[in-house]
Amino acid sequence: MDFDLGEEADALRTRLRALIAEHIPEGFLGAFTSDPKDLDVTQAFCKTLADQGLLTVAWPSEYGGGGGSVWQQTVVREEMWAHHEPRGAQYMGLNWVGPAIMAFGTDAQKQQHLSAIAAGDVIWCQGFSEPDAGSDLASLKTRATEDGDGWRINGQKIWTSYAGMAQWCVLAARVGEGERHEGITMFLVPMDTPGITVRPIKSMLGPHHLNEVFFDDAWAGPESVLGEIGGGWSVIRRALAHERVGIARYARCERLLSALGAELAPVWIELPASLHAQWARALIQVRVARLLAYRTVRAQETGEPAGSGGKAPSPDVMASAARIAVTQCDQSVAELLFQAIEDHSLEAGASAPLHGAIEDHWRYAQAATVASGTIEVQRMIVSKDLLAQTGPR
Ligand SMILES: Cc1cc2nc3c(=O)[nH]c(=O)nc-3n(C[C@H](O)[C@H](O)[C@H](O)COP(=O)(O)OP(=O)(O)OC[C@H]3O[C@@H](n4cnc5c(N)ncnc54)[C@H](O)[C@@H]3O)c2cc1C
Repeated sequence: MDFDLGEEADALRTRLRALIAEHIPEGFLGAFTSDPKDLDVTQAFCKTLADQGLLTVAWPSEYGGGGGSVWQQTVVREEMWAHHEPRGAQYMGLNWVGPAIMAFGTDAQKQQHLSAIAAGDVIWCQGFSEPDAGSDLASLKTRATEDGDGWRINGQKIWTSYAGMAQWCVLAARVGEGERHEGITMFLVPMDTPGITVRPIKSMLGPHHLNEVFFDDAWAGPESVLGEIGGGWSVIRRALAHERVGIARYARCERLLSALGAELAPVWIELPASLHAQWARALIQVRVARLLAYRTVRAQETGEPAGSGGKAPSPDVMASAARIAVTQCDQSVAELLFQAIEDHSLEAGASAPLHGAIEDHWRYAQAATVASGTIEVQRMIVSKDLLAQTGPR
């Protein structure tokens, strides 16, 4: 397999870097800081990308996209994550909500939602996890009960990223008597629906990230159902596989390693050999994570496992393997940054080492092995698949 993305991808990378340099302030650390201006920066930048056809570069043109390749989309995602995701919360709509609507939505849903996402106009949130349904998502209890031609929704979601700023939610709810996976249906619900209450959860991820969302007799019309009644599990599986490979934090890790090298260049040869080795090991981890992500993108694109010989895992399993690698390189780089910069690691602001990115990276890296499915669960998905291939001995 050749993972050289080619000249077109290089040109796209250069163009994106120029746009970021022009529109994103130096030292920007993402949309979810305590400074509301950072959210505004991301909203404006999404419009800029949309105007230049770069927000949905790989979506089919009929859905407002550029008709480009998944590799162009990969370049966009890498450059965005490397530069602290200047698309803010909109990455989720672009990464998996839009593709899920393309795959499972009605014509009317495609018409309504895809053009809004492609224009950079809308933030989506993901209402899957509940207080007693995280790793075991199929045990979720939020219920949608038929009422006239629509549905009344009651229940509670938790850890819902961006719910306080989102206009729409992809909601997983239980319908009818079907148990576990069979009973789940997906809904596309406006967040300003009466009966929906968002309560922020204070966390180390800052003031705007995590939330609880309560549904108290919230009405959803018949047009809000995404896919088949009782067919929600297929939507969730596809969504999670795209989500797991779409968070290209390996690109951020590589940029931080490079910035660390530059920061310490004047004293590099005086640093302990153990730190040099740690830096090299972290870079190898980052590159492995990148390759595992590329392997998954290729498999998702073609539907075929890469380099398989008939025995490679499915794209979903590959996405879990890639996710394990990316969360681990995230944490290795976080530890290395702390050890290398020592007392100055917690400094913030323009004069801080790496513009204060060390402390920011460390906090998010701790959550990485939980978000989007815990690392233990990802390992189980991979090992079950390997055992199934090996078979009984
Ligand atoms: C930053 C962040 C953002 C998030 N954003 C969203 C969001 O936008 N929308 C959303 O729906 N959810 C979101 N989540 C929730 C996330 O998907 C869940 O936290 C995750 O799936 C784990 O569920 P849980 O927290 O209930 O932990 P639990 O499932 O209770 O797990 C607790 C511990 O037990 C382990 N464990 C559980 N079951 C097993 C098992 N069978 N075998 C071995 N170990 C096991 C887990 O690995 C974990 O270490 C987010 C989480 C984080 C941290």
